[in-house]
Amino acid sequence: MAQRSHIHSSLRPTLLIFLLGATFGALAFWLSSIYSLTTIPSAEAAGGEVTSPTGTAPDRYVYYPGTEALSKDEIRVVACGTGMPAARRGQAASCFLIEVGNGDKFLFDIGTGSMANVASLMIPYQYLDKVFLSHLHTDHMGDLLSLWAGGWTAGRPNALRIWGPSGADPEMGTAYAMEHFLKFVNWDKVTREYKISPIPGQLDVTEFDYAVVDQVVYQHNGVTIRSYPAVHAGDGPVSYKLEYAGLSVFFSGDTVPNRWFIEHGKDVDLAIHESMHTPEQFVRLYNQPPQLGWRTCCEFHTSPQAFGKIMSTIQPRHAVAFHFFNEPDTRYQIYQSIRETYDGPLSMATDMMVWNVTKDDIVERMAVSTDDAWSVPGTAQQPPPEKGQPNPLSESMNAGRWRPGFEAQDPALDKYMEKHNLQKEDWRPGMYEQMQQEE
Ligand SMILES: [Zn+2]
Ligand SMILES: [Zn+2]
Repeated sequence: MAQRSHIHSSLRPTLLIFLLGATFGALAFWLSSIYSLTTIPSAEAAGGEVTSPTGTAPDRYVYYPGTEALSKDEIRVVACGTGMPAARRGQAASCFLIEVGNGDKFLFDIGTGSMANVASLMIPYQYLDKVFLSHLHTDHMGDLLSLWAGGWTAGRPNALRIWGPSGADPEMGTAYAMEHFLKFVNWDKVTREYKISPIPGQLDVTEFDYAVVDQVVYQHNGVTIRSYPAVHAGDGPVSYKLEYAGLSVFFSGDTVPNRWFIEHGKDVDLAIHESMHTPEQFVRLYNQPPQLGWRTCCEFHTSPQAFGKIMSTIQPRHAVAFHFFNEPDTRYQIYQSIRETYDGPLSMATDMMVWNVTKDDIVERMAVSTDDAWSVPGTAQQPPPEKGQPNPLSESMNAGRWRPGFEAQDPALDKYMEKHNLQKEDWRPGMYEQMQQEE
């Protein structure tokens, strides 16, 4: 009986709301048709006033990649990964692209899944050759794989340059990780080296002492990048500060609230700092036992309240919170927790959020791009393949080539050869000759 009355009591208001809604809907439609006849033909779009039905909104609140030149004294930051180690389609793991007015671009972290977001910005790979790793957790470097191989096959002309911290011992440092990265990808590397230029497949690694405070790790063309120790899970993690044209972006990486971020973060323009889920969210949504949830949040990471305390202490022009799954179910609780200790300008970061930083303004927008972006060509040419690379495909495997399959593509390849003037580089006669010998 109790259950039935529950159903009734929930049905009745629904019906009432529906009837009221229908009545008001009809009234509103009637009123709006009168309104549209009597008012001037202009409306407010989200970006500003639309003065003509054939025109566009004058101030876009979105960023269309590749359509805006940076001014000389400007920094653009794009969040290409803001999430967690557990993968989700809507948010990759830690990655921030910083572009400065002189044309230089820097990737701070390259967390798992983030390269799809980076690629959607349609920046030629020749400009995506500088990566600064905050630490060696895979949610901060997992997509090195995609950048390394994707850039190699799609236009990076030189070695990929990696900066990263040392660790408590050599085996915990960036140089060790990258040396073994190349071992992990050895089959990939050796086979590509034979087919395309080996140079873009190399890593140019700069490991620096994680423990040095305010250390210049990069200085070139008006850009200075400094490192600061971060306190997180083990020795090695760092935060980075990038300075350009009198502007500064401070990126925490993963850290608990630490004294160096406070001392050197005072008055920075954009402060990007991790802000974790609340302990309850880790238990309810992230499958962690209560014993772990409050430690993940608040022992080896930064809680929302601690994030707020950091920001109200250093007072950046604009604060950015990241490293949480950002959705209606989590965002407001994290936001309210931050607001317990900080009332300044704040972005709750999610993937493809963009900040334009100038002396006058810091503007937050969302980047809008296609899911189907291709790599775009730049000005660079890849070096030619190197002669003398050993062929990793053996004769016994080559003997498995099936001639009718190759012959089937010959008419199309003849046309292609003619179109691109490749007569002198036709690889097919040699191949067919070899096939004949094998028979
Ligand atoms: Zn970490
Ligand atoms: Zn992390």
